[in-house]
Amino acid sequence: MSVQIVAVVGAGTMGRGIIQVIAAAGLKVIAIEPQASQQEKAVEAISVSLDRQVRKWTRDNPDVTHPGPSQEELLGRIQWVEELSEAANAHVVIEAVPENEELKCTIMRQLDAACPEDVVLATNTSSISISRIAEATSQPERVVGMHFFNPVPMMQPIEVVRGEKSSPEAIETASELSRQIGKAPYVVADRPGFVVNRILLPLMNEAVIALDEGVADDPETIDALMKAGCNHPMGPLELSDFVGLDIVLSVLEVLHRDLQDDKFRPAKGLQERVAAGHLGRKTGKGFYDY
Ligand code: NAD
Repeated sequence: MSVQIVAVVGAGTMGRGIIQVIAAAGLKVIAIEPQASQQEKAVEAISVSLDRQVRKWTRDNPDVTHPGPSQEELLGRIQWVEELSEAANAHVVIEAVPENEELKCTIMRQLDAACPEDVVLATNTSSISISRIAEATSQPERVVGMHFFNPVPMMQPIEVVRGEKSSPEAIETASELSRQIGKAPYVVADRPGFVVNRILLPLMNEAVIALDEGVADDPETIDALMKAGCNHPMGPLELSDFVGLDIVLSVLEVLHRDLQDDKFRPAKGLQERVAAGHLGRKTGKGFYDY
């Protein structure tokens, strides 16, 4: 089934990127964001991101007019609302509210009550069990994970996460929607961290341990070595600052708790920076100053 209308719940860092790529693919978006200031910031961020894309395209193709929809046309595909009940008109709902299990379960329960039974309910959680979120609903088979990567307009993959009870139809709808919006779906099991965070987070954590132990004198040396030596586009410490050190810490805590493996124990230098409020780019200070 080709999806025509998608509701996105929450228009923060991830939600606004998801809204943008869905509208750019020609689909209608019901954007559900209760905070007016977040709505305004999202519209501004989407406009800036589109401008940047069009400018880059025009630079690379100086003799051709940009083929995509105009900014006005694209923004016109987005309907901004505040109430969750508006999701009832969508074919798929993608929840992108903060990483808090109680909040996500409450929202899923409300969406379950509001949406007809053929609507697929997806969550963009990075670390919470899809199966547990699904249990908050009366139809866990229609709940799946759709784990997008940041920044959404730039990053191709989506981890489509199969919860214990997710139906093959719900997984196929989420995969088909991913392809419709130009992304690459990878179906993975509902295990802590899925694939990417399970492998990436220990790398980021180990970089902090190496810094704590003085294996290198400064973050620059660690990042430069990992870029040049492993061909990584970003070093692990600058990447941590980009993601947010609070997010890195909270995902590590979940991996450590749920997999009961000490290799995921958060580094001291990470815990100290988060306790001091140095969360990376978003606070102007992390492993680097911004
Ligand atoms: P964020 O804090 O930037 O945005 C969350 C948004 O949800 C805010 O705009 C907030 O106003 C809104 N919101 C809160 N309660 C709501 C409600 N009841 N109804 C509707 N909207 C509500 O968070 P984020 O960084 O965009 O993360 C969202 C989700 O995406 C989290 O589950 C996170 O783990 C996941 N994720 C984040 C990243 C990342 O790099 N930031 C990457 C992948 C996945």
